[in-house]
Amino acid sequence: MSQNVQIVLASRPHGEPTSDNFRTETVPMPSPGDGEVLLRTIYLSLDPYMRGRLSDAKSYAEPFEVDAPLGGGTVCEVVESRSADVATGDVVLAFTSWSTHAVVPAAAVRKLDPSRAPLSTALGVLGMPGFTAYAGLAEIGQPKEGETLVVAAATGPVGSMVGQLAQRAGARAVGIAGGPEKCAYLTEIGFDAAIDHRSPTFVEDLKAATPDGIDVYFENVGGAVWDAVLRRLNDFARVPVCGVIATYNDTEAPSGPDRMPALMGAVLRKRLRIQGFIQNEFASHLGDFHRTVGPLVADGTIKYREDIVQGLEAAPAAFIGLLTGSNFGKLVVQVGDLP
Ligand code: NAP
Repeated sequence: MSQNVQIVLASRPHGEPTSDNFRTETVPMPSPGDGEVLLRTIYLSLDPYMRGRLSDAKSYAEPFEVDAPLGGGTVCEVVESRSADVATGDVVLAFTSWSTHAVVPAAAVRKLDPSRAPLSTALGVLGMPGFTAYAGLAEIGQPKEGETLVVAAATGPVGSMVGQLAQRAGARAVGIAGGPEKCAYLTEIGFDAAIDHRSPTFVEDLKAATPDGIDVYFENVGGAVWDAVLRRLNDFARVPVCGVIATYNDTEAPSGPDRMPALMGAVLRKRLRIQGFIQNEFASHLGDFHRTVGPLVADGTIKYREDIVQGLEAAPAAFIGLLTGSNFGKLVVQVGDLP
């Protein structure tokens, strides 16, 4: 165990990332200083927000640096500890890098209890994406009995949680996903309707699935899905804007007429509430999230799906695919063996 393998950002992508934007390096194993821990990566989370950090455009998070390891949420085993608070052998949630090992301050990790839920869930249904769904609905979406909620990227960790939580609040949940297999899964886990955004009849299908209009649209994707949804929004609809993945690889503004006046007109006439959010600003909901959702995941009431790819070297291709829908469920890389 004398060497660490890591994936660095070789160059910033223009448009869709390619394998050339990533480089694998073997470097000496880091060693922990006082108050630090050396971690062995078990699972690495791949998330759409990482696309923004590959770019140096100004955003809510700092860009990843060229020639430096890419960062990410990880589940790790502590292999050496220089802190009294964390022991060798502990399994922890951390923010480290696309690497087999990393050194971080012990204060920055959170111990996980492997007996509570599969460790990978700390990156998905019980982690940042699940919490994003919970907080975005609690603060902005606020679905109510008898209302209709629509969410796209609905088989992913954010979307599947959004739909299931909305149903628990008494709303009808309509999921949008890419392809018949993903739509079948949505029906299987109990969504009231599932629509394929790749179908040529998507706009008509959305209309048929939302006969009473849409009261909450949890915006995960933007693009053509948003165009279709906007027409179906009811007066006083709420739109938590969580992500616009359809445009993350765009290099120029969309062609065609300027749609901003129509959008602003609809916002006014329908008195829409459209609000962007980043999950960490709602951290006050974290305790409630774990108390409420943890047991529902543990007893199987809330369903989730994971897409676990094997080996750190698989991370770049898996990440590139995430941006166009080749993942089916929460995308996680298994970097090392379970303890
Ligand atoms: P995910 O659903 O596991 O993966 C992304 C999915 O987006 C793909 O599988 C694909 O699903 C869909 N997609 C890609 N291009 C699309 C397009 N042009 N039109 C429609 N759908 C498209 O991802 P996730 O982690 O749950 O994240 C979902 C969204 O939440 C992302 O936009 C992400 O950036 C956002 N997010 C925001 C926060 C926050 O704090 N604001 C936190 C976490 C995540 P289909 O094959 O079904 O189309």
